[in-house]
Amino acid sequence: MNIECKNLMEDIVLQNVDSVMATSPYCTCDECKTDVIAYALNHLQPHYVATRQGRLIVELQSYEMQFRADVMTALSQAVEVVGKNPRHGRQFIR
Ligand SMILES: [Zn+2]
Repeated sequence: MNIECKNLMEDIVLQNVDSVMATSPYCTCDECKTDVIAYALNHLQPHYVATRQGRLIVELQSYEMQFRADVMTALSQAVEVVGKNPRHGRQFIR
């Protein structure tokens, strides 16, 4: 099937998670990164669209402009929460 339902928030979060984590003093391992993504997505309103490949790119750009501020806020919160309580139980000093 060429048509799928997709949560655009997921793409926007994935596109921005690295830059937000890079400026934080906390651990940036894959485990923490996954927790940050999950936390942020749980605190954002999902935005599903039915899409075909190709059309998505156009929509994603306009939605990113619209939701970027919300995503950045959620990601900053997520980095704080996960960074202070990493699931592997210790913090890495870089
Ligand atoms: Zn970690």
